[in-house]
Amino acid sequence: MPHGRITNFGAGPSALPVEVLEEAAQGLLNFEGTGIGIAEISHRSKEFTAYLAGVEAQIRTQLAVPPTHTILFLQGGGTAQFSAIVLNMLARHRLLHPDLPERERVLDYVLTGSWSAAAAKEAARLAAGATVHIAADARTLSPSGAAFDRIPPRSAYAFSPAPALIYYCENETVSGTQFATDPADPASFPFDLLPSGTLLPLVGDHSSSFMSRPIPRLADHAIVYAGAQKNVGPAGLTVAIVRQDCIVDVDAAARLGGAPVPTALAYAPFAKQLSMPNTPPVFALYVTGLVLRHSAALGGVEHYAAVNRRKQAKVYAALRAGEAKGVLRGHVQPGSASWMNVVFNVLGDGAEARFLAGAEAQGMKGLKGHRSVGGIRASLYNAVTEEEVDKLVAYMHEFIEQAPV
Ligand code: PLP
Repeated sequence: MPHGRITNFGAGPSALPVEVLEEAAQGLLNFEGTGIGIAEISHRSKEFTAYLAGVEAQIRTQLAVPPTHTILFLQGGGTAQFSAIVLNMLARHRLLHPDLPERERVLDYVLTGSWSAAAAKEAARLAAGATVHIAADARTLSPSGAAFDRIPPRSAYAFSPAPALIYYCENETVSGTQFATDPADPASFPFDLLPSGTLLPLVGDHSSSFMSRPIPRLADHAIVYAGAQKNVGPAGLTVAIVRQDCIVDVDAAARLGGAPVPTALAYAPFAKQLSMPNTPPVFALYVTGLVLRHSAALGGVEHYAAVNRRKQAKVYAALRAGEAKGVLRGHVQPGSASWMNVVFNVLGDGAEARFLAGAEAQGMKGLKGHRSVGGIRASLYNAVTEEEVDKLVAYMHEFIEQAPV
């Protein structure tokens, strides 16, 4: 590994392709031959605006974003979107149904992990008289009644008749649960229970799976958003794919009720001014553009879907082998397991610390689980190569074999 780098299984910010980082280092000195570094150049320069258009085009092509949707480049991370989606979608609802009493505006949330729970909590703070309805809570289905260990089956969803938004988190980075891609799988895409062809107010947090595989029924989404810092770039950039009917005049809506929406959280100024009503995160956009070019050269999201499918299958097979020997224990139900974040425990006193130390001795870092749940978490984002995953899998087998029985 060049530059004294190690293998980084961190959950985010996470690994980026080394070729991209080398290119970005050059760009810090001289951006695309301008003689000015990327952190120094005006975001209004013709070179940067052309570059930004290229980033937009890469996402549009690689994810097959339909012309009904606008791609916005925002700041404030996933957390700012927890707020922005509520404010923009409630504004839309007020404009569509001005006479509805506020409490009859309903926001449907599907809870499958701590990130969707955090989003629902923020919705409750900002709802301003509207109702937050939990359309499904995966915890209620777990043996303890408290664990996020699965994606609920289709029978578990109670959607409201005409909600202002329907929210889900496609991949839960902490609990390691993810909606499946297999259309034959009952938990695959429960939102197709909703009438299609209508303007569904479906909002998906794709922060930790963005660009790792195609997005099912993207055209049926009101908003798909993702912080860049897992699969596509540095922290500081959030990509939002927003259907045009959800880009509304928030001031006109505020005259009908609710508080004014901060300009930095309203979608319309970003849509009108090509994501630059103010200074955008220039460096994060630059690196994201390089990552997307790199991924296009490899075959785009279809390429990553194939590689990521193999990567996760290998790690889960090792986990199953560890479970069979009583050394490892996974928590996620089959069919709900994340391709991006594999979470498990190493059983026995001090065993997790030994697992981590052994991995680090072999040049593998970032495997410690989230501070809220502990255990081990192996994040297998796009920049983690299949060879690196093979190394982790070999280490897992070695650890399992050497464990006292
Ligand atoms: N959503 C998901 C799925 C995440 O993994 C994270 C952070 O890791 C967030 C939202 C919050 O993102 P941010 O830290 O960019 O606000």
